[in-house]
Amino acid sequence: MTNDQRRSAYLEEIGIGPVWKRRSVQIEAVPEPKPRPEHIVEQPVAAPAPHDDLLFEPAMPEMETHGSSNYDPAVIARMDWATLKETVSGCTKCDLCRNRTHTVFGVGDEKAKWLFVGEGPGRNEDLRGEPFVGQAGKLLDNMLLALGLKRGDNAYIANIVKCRPTDAAGKDRPPTAEESAACIPYLQRQISLIQPSIIVALGKTAALSLLNLRPDTPVSKLRGTVHTYADLPLVVTYHPAYLLRSLTDKKKAWDDLCLAMATYGR
Ligand code: SF4
Repeated sequence: MTNDQRRSAYLEEIGIGPVWKRRSVQIEAVPEPKPRPEHIVEQPVAAPAPHDDLLFEPAMPEMETHGSSNYDPAVIARMDWATLKETVSGCTKCDLCRNRTHTVFGVGDEKAKWLFVGEGPGRNEDLRGEPFVGQAGKLLDNMLLALGLKRGDNAYIANIVKCRPTDAAGKDRPPTAEESAACIPYLQRQISLIQPSIIVALGKTAALSLLNLRPDTPVSKLRGTVHTYADLPLVVTYHPAYLLRSLTDKKKAWDDLCLAMATYGR
């Protein structure tokens, strides 16, 4: 099976089918990002739900230390992989440590050129200690395969926060600004160690956290644009969990991945 045939098979499995196949050919022939059509500027505003792209508290205020004795951003910024993993596994910096089963550090090729960043672990990830498992994880894996990547091979997957955020009913929710601010030094160190060539932010929460943008930043200013994080190109697309609920946006997600591919190629 050729690479094109394999990619087509993955896109069919995702549910995009021949539309995605045609898009991939067009994008490869036209390296410049396409202007965003008006009809995709406004994203659907769904009711609050776990991992929803549209839920976010983006400011990064200072916060009180909950009790982690090893937490020092200046020290974290110099840690090696082993020390960083050990520190995260025992971290009690914010209240998310209280209800976690496992910290979810990240997974993949530690020298990957592609880094994918989500917002935080959900129930399945908390139980497994691995990011993006379950149906959303399967969709992300298919998105990686469509890019010619796979988990652990030139791709690394991480989250803004390493512990599962839950609401009062015990359901998944996006991390707050305080939780994101507490945890992001770990991700920053992961990025420094990995030294990727491109970052793909999965969802608005991840994008706004990494880019330190205001919460009222419209989605139209996030998708379809190549941003910069620490001199690295950053492309924003939908969170896979959101795509599972909004099938019509899969085509837009493919546009985003094509933009990422073109950017990586340059
Ligand atoms: S979410 Fe991050 S900062 Fe908060 S306890 Fe977990 S590892 Fe520590």
